[in-house]
Amino acid sequence: MKKPQTRIKAFLFTAFFLTTIFSFANHSEIKSDSVKSTIISFKIKLKSNEKITIKPSSLKFNKHFAYSFTLDDGYRSAYLTAFPLLNGGKISASNNNEWKIDQGGDGTNSSGLFYSDGLGNKIPFKLGLAINGASLNNSPKRGHLSWAETKEMYNAGWDILNHGFHHATKHGTNYLTEVTENTTSIKQNLGFTISHFVVPGGDGDEKYYLEYEKDALDKGHFSVASYYGKGPVYKVNSKMDLDKLISARTFVQSSKDTTSFKTMDKFLKTIDSIVKQPDPVWFNEFTHGTGNTNLWNLSMRFPDFKYYMTTIANKYGVKGSDSVWMAPWQEVYEYLWLRDRIKVSYEQINNNVTVKIELPKIPENFRHRAISLKVETPSKFETESNSSELKISSDGKTKHSLINIQLK
Ligand SMILES: [Zn+2]
Repeated sequence: MKKPQTRIKAFLFTAFFLTTIFSFANHSEIKSDSVKSTIISFKIKLKSNEKITIKPSSLKFNKHFAYSFTLDDGYRSAYLTAFPLLNGGKISASNNNEWKIDQGGDGTNSSGLFYSDGLGNKIPFKLGLAINGASLNNSPKRGHLSWAETKEMYNAGWDILNHGFHHATKHGTNYLTEVTENTTSIKQNLGFTISHFVVPGGDGDEKYYLEYEKDALDKGHFSVASYYGKGPVYKVNSKMDLDKLISARTFVQSSKDTTSFKTMDKFLKTIDSIVKQPDPVWFNEFTHGTGNTNLWNLSMRFPDFKYYMTTIANKYGVKGSDSVWMAPWQEVYEYLWLRDRIKVSYEQINNNVTVKIELPKIPENFRHRAISLKVETPSKFETESNSSELKISSDGKTKHSLINIQLK
């Protein structure tokens, strides 16, 4: 078992935050991935003849704020506490493991934490899991997840990210096989090809993470979360350069203070300041364990985690402004990738509109294929499609501002 040592210090976070939030502009032209494009189309029937405008939404469901949160290392607390808290279910009571560390929670029942799709349907908060295939096992006192637990969370929409096969960082590590063996292990056990990498933290040769970044990108990963890079706050109102993206990783962690939520309030204040930006943003953060003990002092104690996530849900989820899209890294990445490569055109004749969307060739290992369109019209409307390739829903009868398309 390896004990991760890395911490990104608060001042680094502040520096990244200040430098990235206002200056995510200067990017090279995105390369065309379309070898052969496909066109999908559907119709809109308006109540009146007034002019409509339609364009891709900056974020799915017209949200203002995408928040991605990843649990590193595949600790069992993800399944015992975080998953039932967010998805709904019984949170484990205290659960002492092989390391004599309590990875359980408060033993209560959670009804889940939700945002909506903008059309009245609740969606549970989902996280990402950065896992090391070599650590997963089935022993009763284990500190790590089992494959079955991981699969259950994956099936519930949580994304799984590559964190190296052994979480190896020390001198002599074969970074390339760490990347590829984990890809193989995940393919064998979960049945899909993993496509985003999170550099394992720990003691290693100077700048060892550069090796991981290179090897992961060379082996077809679309992005790497590392010590330094773009983000963690991304402005998403214009075209983004997502190609071989290296993203800076910052952590939410409990402090020694177990009597108040002051530490969590500080992190929540940062979120507040990000959400207040006039333009839509994507924010990406990490922690390790979410059980009662602050695992390796790199984690969120369960009471802190519960307070943190519940506060976010109450403020920005369905019980609050409903402005958050609480979705893991891969899901948001894939939405933005597709958003920047579709070509939306439409023709309006009186109250009939024909919408055409030219799709790029979508990489086979994409998991999420969703498009949201921001509609401006004073008129109520209905959508019509006879394509079996799409599932279309809209708020045409109420707010007439959003069309969600799920590609099959
Ligand atoms: Zn790690």
